[in-house]
Amino acid sequence: MIKNMIYTGKSGILYYLSDKPFSSGGEGFIHNVNGKPDIVAKIYRIEKLSYEKERKLLKMIDYKPEENMLTQIAWPIDVLYDSYNKFAGFTMRKMSINKDLNVIYEYGSDNYSKLLWENKIIIAENLCAVLHSIHDNGHHVCGDLNPKNISVNPETGFVVFLDTDSYHIQDGINTYRCEVGMPDYLPFEIQNKMRGDITLVTANLPTFTEETDNFALAIHIFQLLMNGAHPFACRVDYSQSHPSVAAPQPVDNIIKGKFPFMMFLTGIKIPVYAPEIKILTKKLQDLFKLAFIDGHKDPTKRPKPEEWHIALRELRQNLTKCSKVSHHQYYTSLSSCPWCEVDNKFKKPSKAAIKQTLIKAPSYTTTMKNKINLKKAAIVIIIASIIGYLISINNNDRQSADTRPRPHEGVSNPITAPANNNQTAPRPAPAPARPQPSPAPPPAAIPPPVGDW
Ligand SMILES: [Zn+2]
Repeated sequence: MIKNMIYTGKSGILYYLSDKPFSSGGEGFIHNVNGKPDIVAKIYRIEKLSYEKERKLLKMIDYKPEENMLTQIAWPIDVLYDSYNKFAGFTMRKMSINKDLNVIYEYGSDNYSKLLWENKIIIAENLCAVLHSIHDNGHHVCGDLNPKNISVNPETGFVVFLDTDSYHIQDGINTYRCEVGMPDYLPFEIQNKMRGDITLVTANLPTFTEETDNFALAIHIFQLLMNGAHPFACRVDYSQSHPSVAAPQPVDNIIKGKFPFMMFLTGIKIPVYAPEIKILTKKLQDLFKLAFIDGHKDPTKRPKPEEWHIALRELRQNLTKCSKVSHHQYYTSLSSCPWCEVDNKFKKPSKAAIKQTLIKAPSYTTTMKNKINLKKAAIVIIIASIIGYLISINNNDRQSADTRPRPHEGVSNPITAPANNNQTAPRPAPAPARPQPSPAPPPAAIPPPVGDW
């Protein structure tokens, strides 16, 4: 029997949630809603509930996107209250969740490295379509538009924006902040505000805007088109720099407005796995210049989703297939395949190239052999000592210590000890306690070759 948790929506509708969530995260739990297969409910952890969050969600319901976009944007559609009428969470459409966007564009990804460029362009176009619909409403921006908040179906290219309850919502009077952000996707104007103890919660408004979303969108498009390279990633040209010099991180270059793909920077080169920006159409190069150079200090210069959409479609309609590698495609105006060039520059180490190498004489085996040899030596020493001891008794004579091999010293006390019954040393009892090995041939008596005699 399925156990239900009952919540009431702002709309007055009762929602019967499945007892156990099918997913959970730092903020809360996602439950199926019984009797409503196309809806799921997010129930917050108690410590994540706040009046501010409730107000924000109520505002988001007022400003929800077009109905047909609710399968592409995990937008709240009702706010939930528990049996004490306390705010608890919200409902949204059940989404088809696939791969995080960063998994799609990572260079060398085992699963998606052979995804056609054409398909990556389609995914970029679809990002533009979803962001356009969000901005079109006029009241909200994504804010934290990082690749882990974007799900992509690699088979269809279908894109879904997730975690919308963190979005930045404005109603003309109040602003309900997006309080989180991944630094690699935040433009200069936000990074510039976050100094010292200032955070996205305390920074002076405005923080997130349509222009900050457009900056993150341009980064995603760049990474999809350019082998996963972040537009502000770079490497040091060690022919001009000291070996101890470290490459600036993308965040450093964002803050300083250094876009290495279109700016000459002394001692700096683009990542080795990235193609030159000239592999793109002139239109796309111009848009990236606006996004990352002109838009550095003037965010309004950054291209909008619909501008990218047109330029991307133009590129997609002018592709040529590589004659050498079946999954390579490139802009038809180029004279040769840029991906072959990149692959030649950056050979990802194959699994075969880093397979395990066996040590010819494993150290542990040597150690074991040494231990075995030591044991053998000890046995020989003991036997030799006993025999020597017995011989000493029989001959009533003492061996001079320095006539014996040194290793015998530690176990040769019976030989060197005085042959009297008064000794108190905790040593094995002397001769009388032992059987007399009367004939006692020397153990080391390997018969000498007959011929030597
Ligand atoms: Zn090629």
